[in-house]
Amino acid sequence: MDKLYDLIVIGGGPGGIGAVVEAKVLGLKKVLLIEKTDNHSHTIRKFYKDKKRVDKDWQGQAVELEGNVEFVDGTKESTLDYFDKLLDNEKIDSRFNCEVSKVEKRDNIFYIYSNCGDFKSKSVIVGIGRMGKPNKPNYKIPLSIRGQVNYNLDKCSNGEDIIVVGGGDSAVEYACELSESNSVLLNYRKDTLTRPNPTNQAMIKEYASHGKVRLKLGVDISSVEAQHGKVKINFSNGDTELFDRAIYAIGGTTPKDFLKACGITLDSKGEPIFDENYESETKGLYIAGDIAFASGGSIAIALNHGYRIVNHILKNQ
Ligand SMILES: Cc1cc2nc3c(=O)[nH]c(=O)nc-3n(C[C@H](O)[C@H](O)[C@H](O)COP(=O)(O)OP(=O)(O)OC[C@H]3O[C@@H](n4cnc5c(N)ncnc54)[C@H](O)[C@@H]3O)c2cc1C
Repeated sequence: MDKLYDLIVIGGGPGGIGAVVEAKVLGLKKVLLIEKTDNHSHTIRKFYKDKKRVDKDWQGQAVELEGNVEFVDGTKESTLDYFDKLLDNEKIDSRFNCEVSKVEKRDNIFYIYSNCGDFKSKSVIVGIGRMGKPNKPNYKIPLSIRGQVNYNLDKCSNGEDIIVVGGGDSAVEYACELSESNSVLLNYRKDTLTRPNPTNQAMIKEYASHGKVRLKLGVDISSVEAQHGKVKINFSNGDTELFDRAIYAIGGTTPKDFLKACGITLDSKGEPIFDENYESETKGLYIAGDIAFASGGSIAIALNHGYRIVNHILKNQ
């Protein structure tokens, strides 16, 4: 507790990494990165399939990088290697397996409480993302098939009948990847897939035209049942179909309780309130990355948040 940091960043994803690297490059001396899991970039490790193409312009959003991090198109592996290098080169002081539970501000100092000790800092950036709790459907999933209803590809094996639910880039990438060794249906409630970026649009068009991925668009799911150990999907148009597995790729939730425990006020929709500098209503307490969006952040956008926030901290020193 004795050491007073200039900046503590909570969450070691792209938003957090961008922020600590910019802080070091732009001249903040005492900087600490705190990450809950045993390595940085947990969302990338857990939700990206191995060798996944990583697009800089994700969800069709072309982003100019503003800061000192030169992130480019690559793969899951090249992106993780690049982040390793950034953290090593800038000698970033990091705590892994360290979960922050609360932030309090007293006499202009932030007190950060975690399961690996308590810390003090002049400024804090919260960049914990949304994938700690992926979005789940609002109908009930019967207990007996919960193991077959997933939110990433960890449990998938080969030769399964799989339904992938969602209309964004992740759903399209999951469906195409799984179709290499499974029979796959991609279901989206809207008539057209407009959210994926151009590369993924072209990919799903090709897979669908060759019959590798079946598309069921413009139809919602009304309920899910268990039948003979399988996942029975009841569509809103009256169709029903049995699958070995269902994968929901429908984004993540706002970590409301955590944000409140950090002293970040939420609006009527439960989203964090922050200004053009990503500063919350508590001076010196910022948010970066995916939690700044109700839907659809990206690595490049998260990196830019870090750069802008650090500049704002430096300006107000
Ligand atoms: C399947 C999939 C594919 C994607 N593909 C791309 C792509 O190709 N290109 C692209 O630009 N974007 C892509 N994205 C989006 C991109 O991954 C996110 O926009 C980006 O990871 C957001 O970064 P972040 O730092 O805000 O949050 P995250 O990456 O979610 O990082 C948050 C970090 O905070 C940690 N954390 C959580 N709670 C605590 C706590 N209490 N204390 C300490 N640490 C905590 C987490 O363990 C995690 O490491 C994809 C997303 C998904 C789900």
